[in-house]
Amino acid sequence: MAQAAIGRHPGWAANDGHARRAAQQIRLGPDILCSMDAANRSVLALDLASLQGELAALGMPKYRAGQIMEWIFQKRAVTFETMTNLSRDDRRELAERYTLFTSEVVRHLRSADGTEKILLRWPDGGLTESVMIPCDDDHADEYGHTVVAQRRTACLSTQVGCPVGCAFCASGLQGLKRNLTSAQVLEQALRLTHLLAPARRRLSNVVFMGMGEPLANFEVTLTAIRILMAPWAFHISGRKITVSTVGLPPQIRRLAEAELPVTLALSLHAPNDELRRQLIPWAKGISIGDLVDAGRYYFDRTGREITLEYIMLEAVNTRPEHARELASLAHQLRSNVNLIYYNQVPGLPFRRPAGPTVLAFQQQLRSLGVNVHVRRSRGRDIAAACGQLARQDPSEAQMESGEPANRQAAGN
Ligand code: SF4
Repeated sequence: MAQAAIGRHPGWAANDGHARRAAQQIRLGPDILCSMDAANRSVLALDLASLQGELAALGMPKYRAGQIMEWIFQKRAVTFETMTNLSRDDRRELAERYTLFTSEVVRHLRSADGTEKILLRWPDGGLTESVMIPCDDDHADEYGHTVVAQRRTACLSTQVGCPVGCAFCASGLQGLKRNLTSAQVLEQALRLTHLLAPARRRLSNVVFMGMGEPLANFEVTLTAIRILMAPWAFHISGRKITVSTVGLPPQIRRLAEAELPVTLALSLHAPNDELRRQLIPWAKGISIGDLVDAGRYYFDRTGREITLEYIMLEAVNTRPEHARELASLAHQLRSNVNLIYYNQVPGLPFRRPAGPTVLAFQQQLRSLGVNVHVRRSRGRDIAAACGQLARQDPSEAQMESGEPANRQAAGN
């Protein structure tokens, strides 16, 4: 059998503590994964109707809510004070009752390819990463007309750290610290929008592929998606929003039933359960068969094809027998496969495969009738792998190692 021949990757032993910590956190169950939105008084967590209701109760006119949303989502206001068409008293009252932006941008990196990454620190000290990926993808349509396709894709985090503990991931190394609130997810999208030049200010796409497992913070993810889609806020088509999950079958079904036309991306990364459970500790209780069933349900309810994501790890999941297994899975549901070059994480034993290895894998899948693409690598020069910036932050290094921050930083 393929897996017996592969065995355990020799470098993985170094990462056993990482996997154990992830498994311990998963055993903590629903408590640790609960939403923190109950205590949230950020105006970013409110939809237009809720804000109208709250402001009416404060004696403000109903149209105030629309003005505030316009300031936040169209005019890039970051404080109530700058909302100059509101009376001074209203601005003061709003600032006393609500928060707006609560994070601090502690790092901002720009890649040679235009990708930008920000590291945000939240008031409790938690760190998350968010990425803006620009892509000017003009192409000809079926009639030969040029379609100007300027994509501005925001990659958002849903948790501080991640409970899943993928063996190859920097975010997984931290374990889960806490869930983000919906306001904090939306604040990331706004902060990324603020990086854009005014003429190209709109986000066109959003992917939930940053730190954390979005479906383990389900209600927050759902609230954020609804506000991302709302005409008074970001006004992004649901079809241009992708939720990437390691695969929680009950939550996948709930997402299907929410009837939002978002794309579901299953982070498969291995074509059989044995290898997948070595790479993704959380997958121990979830079989690929269960995921395929949930994916089929998602397609039946939404009509949206499932994307199977597969991170290419040199000599781990790149062999011809893996391609055959992956093709067989891809044919079990309406799907396309996305091959992703691994971005190496210092301290982890996994390696990025060479281009010819990835292309041969893609060719083999194509010859087996699979719709497969290779995702373009972006931002490699700015610590592209999720969680790498947070790991480089001295405060985070101190938390991880227990050593003084400056010593850890010097060691890097
Ligand atoms: S790859 Fe994604 S799911 Fe896995 S540990 Fe990293 S952030 Fe979590």
